[in-house]
Amino acid sequence: MRTRPGICQRKKRFANEEEALRVAERAPFPLRPYRCELCGDFHLTGRTKRMKLPAFEIVRRRDATAARREDAET
Ligand SMILES: [Zn+2]
Repeated sequence: MRTRPGICQRKKRFANEEEALRVAERAPFPLRPYRCELCGDFHLTGRTKRMKLPAFEIVRRRDATAARREDAET
């Protein structure tokens, strides 16, 4: 994913994906960690469209629709 220098400097940095995921998990909206090409650390992005969702977000969405969908994919 392309990152502009300005965005990189403004954004929070995480040394590893686990740390970024912990923060993303507590956010009230979907966030996804990605590795920044500029600094090599992880940032979070709210743009989750057309991206692979983090595991906890997949579980969250599956749980939300589990009541109606018995055959939720694993
Ligand atoms: Zn960066």
